[in-house]
Amino acid sequence: MKIIFATANEGKMREIRRIADACGNYYVCSLKEAGIMPEINENGTSFEENALIKVRAVGPQEDALVMADDSGIEIDAFQGAPGVYSARFMGEDTSYTVKNRAILDRMQGLTAEERGARYRCVIALLFPDGTERVFEDCMEGRITEGEPRGEGGFGYDPIFYVPEANKTAAELTDSEKDAVSHRGKALRKAFLALQTGEIS
Ligand code: IMP
Repeated sequence: MKIIFATANEGKMREIRRIADACGNYYVCSLKEAGIMPEINENGTSFEENALIKVRAVGPQEDALVMADDSGIEIDAFQGAPGVYSARFMGEDTSYTVKNRAILDRMQGLTAEERGARYRCVIALLFPDGTERVFEDCMEGRITEGEPRGEGGFGYDPIFYVPEANKTAAELTDSEKDAVSHRGKALRKAFLALQTGEIS
């Protein structure tokens, strides 16, 4: 089955291809590969709204399922911010080294219990007949107390501590991250629904 995934984020695209490969026989192509360059105005106020905005910008495709995700990090000490604004936090062009340092600085002195955070992901699907479906999942963790750690993943991963692995998300191997990540879990829900015929 051909899937067009509406993202320009390379880190995300890598994870999505890996997860899709592990779920079955899917040919996942990026917008660039599909030769579609929609203008996406991500002005929703929830992950679901933004994920739907992305698939609707591409529109139903006769020969492919259109998928998009919207995801972000919710930090309890910041009342859930940056949330849907995770990519734009401190400016889209600001490096994650700077963003991550700023978060650690703002959270200085907070205890482990006060450092709760989660990644949330909503996957939207748009079928050739225009039907839409969404799937959601989270990865619970907390913001590290020490320095950023790890070279894997992307974005906020070096400061996102995953308690069950006793590692930051950037220290997880690819397959470890896929097994527990918000994106891995939400995508597997979507693929399972496709495979069981719950949606088609
Ligand atoms: P989106 O591309 O509009 O969905 O923005 C997602 C943003 O959330 C990314 O650019 C990152 O800032 C953050 N984010 C989402 N998932 C992850 C992840 O798995 N690791 C690190 N950062 C993430």
